[in-house]
Amino acid sequence: MIASAYVHIPFCQHICTYCAFARTARLDWIEPWFNQCVSEIQTTLQEARAKDENFALQTVYFGGGTPSLLSVDKLKKLTDCFRPYLADEYEWTIEANPESIDEKKLTVLHDAGINRLSIGIQTFDDARLKQLGRHHSSHQAKECIRMARKAGFGNVSVDLMYGFLDQTPEQLKQDLDAFLDLDVEHLSIYSLILEPDSILGRRQTEEMDEQQSGELFEQIETRLENAGYTHYEISSYAKGNRYGLHNVLIWQDGLYYGFGYGAIGRNEHGLYHHTGTLKDYIEGKSRLEYDEDANPWFDAIMTGLRTIFGLNLKSWNEKYGFDFETRYPKTLARYADSFQHKDGYLCVDCKGMEILDTILVDFLMEDESAG
Ligand code: SF4
Repeated sequence: MIASAYVHIPFCQHICTYCAFARTARLDWIEPWFNQCVSEIQTTLQEARAKDENFALQTVYFGGGTPSLLSVDKLKKLTDCFRPYLADEYEWTIEANPESIDEKKLTVLHDAGINRLSIGIQTFDDARLKQLGRHHSSHQAKECIRMARKAGFGNVSVDLMYGFLDQTPEQLKQDLDAFLDLDVEHLSIYSLILEPDSILGRRQTEEMDEQQSGELFEQIETRLENAGYTHYEISSYAKGNRYGLHNVLIWQDGLYYGFGYGAIGRNEHGLYHHTGTLKDYIEGKSRLEYDEDANPWFDAIMTGLRTIFGLNLKSWNEKYGFDFETRYPKTLARYADSFQHKDGYLCVDCKGMEILDTILVDFLMEDESAG
């Protein structure tokens, strides 16, 4: 049974210089997109309940784009679509940008049942924010957290970035100091990647070298762990076990609806997305298409191993009809020192996490030679 849903809200007031996500600044398309998306959600959820009266969602995630850009009225209507389908205990997250959220919206979202807020801050350095094409200030970001607490949000996540070409360890320290002062439950921190389709990727070709980036990563690791955060996924830290449950379910090979253009979903037939362009979606010409190149058993290894929870070997064997130990003997032997077996789960230790990409390439090569 599918127990999670992701809604992609692809609208942004401005386009950030590093961005290569599915998004648009055509805000005049919000209205027709909204009608189409609500109709898709309502039809799908009604059908799921008709097939199974116990159907309920454990996690819902509104991502983007900029979900907080939607008006109060639209946010209310969108949340109304999901409320009848929530499990007794659920996690419901919305992403927000500091410049497009205020006390009124936060209160409406919290009162509608949303219980987790993920705020795109990226850095507390105002000059850097400008370079990134962000339209908020460090002050606004901090205010946003204060307002979220006032509105009742007890589970807040912040997104930060690091690895800017000229970033010094001292600059990163200042960002981490500012983050830790906020005392929020969760951090997602990503190294800047120059995407060829982004404004920055077209302007700049040089990235921070691996050694410098590794040193910054170690600084993050040390500061966050000393402050009581658990590093539970390559880019994610949580305090008091406030893991991002929606992502954890997806990383553990869970099924989820993907609503709206730009969303990816996964059902019993595999990964799917909407065909065509956003305009096609708005005009009702888009359909769901399965990813034919997908290798779901390798995807499950890749996402399972990136978390401290690891890969459930029994479930993997049953679901994909292989025996993990006999399919990957060489990779398991080569990195035996980095693997740990815990209650039927295969995990990698800290050393293994640092070379996870290399380990995964070896799994993939062994997979391809196994046929
Ligand atoms: S807010 Fe997010 S999706 Fe929108 S342009 Fe910036 S990075 Fe891209």
